Amino acid sequence: MERHQKTAVIIPAAGSGSRMGASVPKQFLSLAGEPLLVRTVRTFLLSPAIDLAVVVVPAAHREETRQILQRHLSPALSRRILFTVGGATRQDSVRSGLEALPAETDIVLVHDGARPLVSQDLILRCITGAREHGAAIAAVAVKDTLKRVDGRGCIRATVDRSGLWQAQTPQAARRELLLRAHQQAAEKGFVGTDEAALLEHAEIPVRVVEGEEQNIKITRPGDMALAAGLLQREHSMKIGHGFDAHRLVEDRDLVLGGVRIDFELGLLGHSDADVLTHALIDAILGAVGAGDIGRHFPDSDQRYRGISSIKLLQETVSLAAEHGLQLANGDITIICQRPRLAPFLAAMRDTLAAACRVAQDRINIKATTTESMGYTGRGEGIAAHAVVLLQAISPGQSP
Ligand code: MG
Repeated sequence: MERHQKTAVIIPAAGSGSRMGASVPKQFLSLAGEPLLVRTVRTFLLSPAIDLAVVVVPAAHREETRQILQRHLSPALSRRILFTVGGATRQDSVRSGLEALPAETDIVLVHDGARPLVSQDLILRCITGAREHGAAIAAVAVKDTLKRVDGRGCIRATVDRSGLWQAQTPQAARRELLLRAHQQAAEKGFVGTDEAALLEHAEIPVRVVEGEEQNIKITRPGDMALAAGLLQREHSMKIGHGFDAHRLVEDRDLVLGGVRIDFELGLLGHSDADVLTHALIDAILGAVGAGDIGRHFPDSDQRYRGISSIKLLQETVSLAAEHGLQLANGDITIICQRPRLAPFLAAMRDTLAAACRVAQDRINIKATTTESMGYTGRGEGIAAHAVVLLQAISPGQSP
């Protein structure tokens, strides 16, 4: 979809970590093997509705933050991040983020760097809310009974909870509305704890959209363990299947599983036509829910002419890692009448395992003939099937 107007998210990430009892800023604390800010930023950049992320950090952490995000995110995602230096308060930081936005931005979301479990659905709900109503924030209705308690721990009153909601982020608005709200707050010296407070102060109507209980803000030490637990539950295992076939022709190298095999014929294709690796790539893409090989590496693209399919596999594994997934195991069957492949299977397995960054025993390769039946049996081509299981990248592991 062609969009001239852009949607951006501003992520203030200036938490000192003092309440966490940690010496590093909390956005750098490790959650499931990576700094929590990385997870937060990636979730937005993976949303098809988000064009740009503005990360607002204190001057002292700017370079470190840039390096950490670049190390963990692919170049394609990193390119869509803008870094700006934040002010003394959250409000100042969001304001400097707003000023850094390109003029064609129409919808702006603001999201706490320390809410790493925000979902794609919630991001879309907030954007839709802002498009329809001008401003919309994620919030959840209060469920527990509320008590007003005095300084001695004594209940003074039970507060009627009807109509009470807890504000979360993302908080989304049309850019001109949020700018107006910030300008008015600055003029009047008004300080709010979230964007909605500034919008309300400027008498701009704000809708709530249904937030999510698991969209917690990491504030106290126990929150990290809670977030890790929620994350584990969210990432169950994913299964994928891939199939590919290529024609055998003269004057082409035969490459299977990244291994060059001496044979009088080779496979025809735009890349090196490594049919086995293509089936594996398609299986991984299937498990991630990311379409197929043709969408990611189109044969109309000259960059992929003659390219080693192992390179494409490495990129696919990085894409899976960006979804928090790695290969648990893969099982591949090659259907090939000639040549005899048994002598090469171990080398193929080792090459594919290295490209997938897993131990060799995670990959199994079998070769079969079709007893001279069909196109593979007649030696017109070679086909391959692959099934994979992907699992969440375990805590402490780097994707
Ligand atoms: Mg292919």
